[in-house]
Amino acid sequence: MTAPFAVEVRGVRKSYGAQEVLRGVDLTVRSGEVVTVIGPSGSGKSTLLRVVNHLESLDAGTVHIDGELIGYRLRRNTLHALPDREVRRQRSRIGFVFQQFNLFPHLTVLDNVTLAPLAAQRRDRKEVEAEARVLLDRVGIGELADAYPRRLSGGQQQRVAIARALALRPRVILFDEPTSALDPELVGEVLDVIRDLAHGGTALVIVTHEIGFAREIADTVVFLDAGAIVEQGAPEAVLDHPRHPRTRAFLSRVR
Ligand code: ADP
Ligand code: MG
Repeated sequence: MTAPFAVEVRGVRKSYGAQEVLRGVDLTVRSGEVVTVIGPSGSGKSTLLRVVNHLESLDAGTVHIDGELIGYRLRRNTLHALPDREVRRQRSRIGFVFQQFNLFPHLTVLDNVTLAPLAAQRRDRKEVEAEARVLLDRVGIGELADAYPRRLSGGQQQRVAIARALALRPRVILFDEPTSALDPELVGEVLDVIRDLAHGGTALVIVTHEIGFAREIADTVVFLDAGAIVEQGAPEAVLDHPRHPRTRAFLSRVR
């Protein structure tokens, strides 16, 4: 049986010192659904993505991916942290695309894409390399397989990062402002690639400042403010008819 949700975040709280950055977040993402997350700088958007991928531990609440509890094991009604090795295995099925690309500079484009499927998923090299070449073609940079990241433009590097995420055969890909480190003329090529992935079966959670893109691509738009989801719903509802004054104030600032 497939799990009801690709991502299920329940009651998640996270503090750094005295500052509570996530204040009880509930978010569900269906299989193949596209969710865009908008909100002011410092509202907790990156932290939310990082707890989903268990790059950050939780103070309260749970995250399930495809029905599997992430980062913890439940024993006698208590959550126990999983060993790192188990967390790495779980993370190897969750794609993450960072603002700053985070490619390995000492590896070729092809090796960047094949590393995790080979090392963390222990799949067959021939199969993984063949699939990686197909993915690089799909994001429009098949001819760059043997190049090193420093020779690539920002847009090309981000497309490598997207191919690398896809190579995990993930249930969900998390994007943290994937175009905000790019020169304006390179934003379009990355948005085009993400647009092509949407509704292809993999759930996408995209933190973005590109409100037009968020509207166009999303099934659901989530507005996060001060560590809480203030409003969420269809793009037309949240972006054109926001109910909450804080959503209205934010949208009037960014438009
Ligand atoms: P956003 O992505 O919406 O801009 P973040 O999730 O990056 O917001 O950050 C939310 C708040 O948490 C900010 O006030 C930020 O300074 C703080 N924060 C984020 N990461 C850390 C950290 N590792 N240590 C301390 N504070 C952090
Ligand atoms: Mg951020």
